[in-house]
Amino acid sequence: MAKKTIDTCSFCGRARNEVALLISGAQGNICNDCVEQAYAIVEETRKKDPAGGFRLKKEDLPTPVEITKFLNQYVIGQDEAKRFLSVSVYNHYKRLLQKKDDNDVEIEKSNIIMVGATGTGKTLLARTIAKMLHVPFTIVDATVLTEAGYVGEDIESILTRLLQVADYDVKAAERGIVFIDEIDKIARKGDNPSITRDVSGEGVQQGLLKLLEGSVVNVPPQGGRKHPDQKMIQVDTKNILFICGGAFDGIEKKIAQRMNTRVVGYSADKSIALNPGNILQYITPNDLKSFGLIPEIIGRLPILTYLNPLDRNALRNILTEPKNSIIKQYQKLFEMDGIRLTFDEAVFEFIVDKAIEYKLGARGLRSIVESIMIDDMYTMPSSPKKELHIDLNYAKEKFAKLEQSKLKSA
Ligand code: ADP
Repeated sequence: MAKKTIDTCSFCGRARNEVALLISGAQGNICNDCVEQAYAIVEETRKKDPAGGFRLKKEDLPTPVEITKFLNQYVIGQDEAKRFLSVSVYNHYKRLLQKKDDNDVEIEKSNIIMVGATGTGKTLLARTIAKMLHVPFTIVDATVLTEAGYVGEDIESILTRLLQVADYDVKAAERGIVFIDEIDKIARKGDNPSITRDVSGEGVQQGLLKLLEGSVVNVPPQGGRKHPDQKMIQVDTKNILFICGGAFDGIEKKIAQRMNTRVVGYSADKSIALNPGNILQYITPNDLKSFGLIPEIIGRLPILTYLNPLDRNALRNILTEPKNSIIKQYQKLFEMDGIRLTFDEAVFEFIVDKAIEYKLGARGLRSIVESIMIDDMYTMPSSPKKELHIDLNYAKEKFAKLEQSKLKSA
């Protein structure tokens, strides 16, 4: 016999007509007041936890393989980068688990640097990892950072962003993840260590080093430039995981040069000769150094990995395979209006062709789909039709229209 649903809050016992909102679950109900109280308890518990979060248990840790599985749902390919990231994140968790009084062996931070062309998924990987960990996550662009005393943002402003996403909960921020994009843009210009520091390069790297190493940093709560009467917030970066990414344009040449000399010197490394593929796979810390990162920074980014350029097949998969792929997102948008959206396979091929032709990469996929769908997104919600099928001719026609209007405006 089915259990009779009782219309009262299972926590406080009040009836539906005594509360503003009663939410029903499979086993019982909860009222809005009890939800709020429960939330306050959750927050309180989290803040009290010395690790800055709910007490992590070793058994609850996702293994590197599980982390990769999670990443696979959102990111296509990039297996090598996923493996490295998964291990490093797993170790990051273990660091957080290490007891404070355990002065036996201190596990060092495993900050990561990912090298790969723009639009190949570096940010997406970092973002997805943060989603899995439920830790504060922020993306900062290294190009806006400058050495103290110059126009631009102080290095510490990186932590301001992290504090902001953590709602100024310092403990939470102290175990967050920072993705520093375009790290290659703060490379030292020229190969020689300069005596006179350059504004955009070495000075910034020196500043960044302090954060990567793990130290207590005074952070301006509102960001920007520090000024004397501003109250600072102290943040310890010891447990913050830094993931750096950069395209390092031209580094392939340096890798090739280095390998050629080796090939000559050691009478040909067969594996290299046989597998030219993505030359980035042979990257070493030394190549980062010849690109202009200072050795100290490289030393603090012990995990070096690379991303592959996205080929046709990868672009095709990106369109439909990830959990929140572009196509699934559009289908969802239409579904919310009760409309079933379908495509011919040829349309996907066409979209990929155009992304390649216009050298737009994965980022371009979205704008191409948008240009095909924009008219329907405008008209369909007020139409009685409940089905929308996009075939190749239709897609071509819509795309051509966009191309024309772009040409006109150019
Ligand atoms: P990067 O940081 O390397 O410049 P992004 O991660 O910002 O590149 O990628 C831009 C967009 O392209 C992402 O938001 C995503 O939609 C798509 N994309 C890029 N690479 C992949 C990938 N490997 N798998 C799935 N989507 C990808």
